Amino acid sequence: MSSNGAIVMEYCQNKRRCRKLAEEEEERLKVALHKAEKMQEKFLLYSKHSIYASAHAIHRMQERAIHPSEVHGVIECGFPIDFAYIPHPYFVDKGYIFTFCGEGDYGQSLHVICSLPPLSPGSQRWILTVRTVYDPSLYPEEWNEDFTRRVCFCYARPEQYDETSDYEL
Ligand SMILES: [Zn+2]
Repeated sequence: MSSNGAIVMEYCQNKRRCRKLAEEEEERLKVALHKAEKMQEKFLLYSKHSIYASAHAIHRMQERAIHPSEVHGVIECGFPIDFAYIPHPYFVDKGYIFTFCGEGDYGQSLHVICSLPPLSPGSQRWILTVRTVYDPSLYPEEWNEDFTRRVCFCYARPEQYDETSDYEL
């Protein structure tokens, strides 16, 4: 109850469960993020690397007024906060899924979720595809203070990703 007697709904529906999930994530990320940083560096140094975006990501960027140069900035100068090798529930292709954390032009936090298929021998280009972009400060209850770790998993759900890599960023 708040001071005026109104019932205040707590955002987190199960604090114990979310705290436990956050601890488990922290253990997993210790190993995963080390690998992610190496992959990020390898991708950026690869001479023929390109950054594409799905139609969904382009739509979200337009809706959220996020410029392609800001997305490039997060991928190139930001750091990974999540990393997994798929088969992934939301993607058909096998590969790596990254979430990069960085800053936009106005100093706002940005999260950029990308997929990266492994570089196959003899392939000429290595393409990272942006799947979605958002400002995590719009969901403050879900993140820690610097938006690098999820603290509430109650409403964590995938956006409607699509599998296309239609647009070069
Ligand atoms: Zn929660």
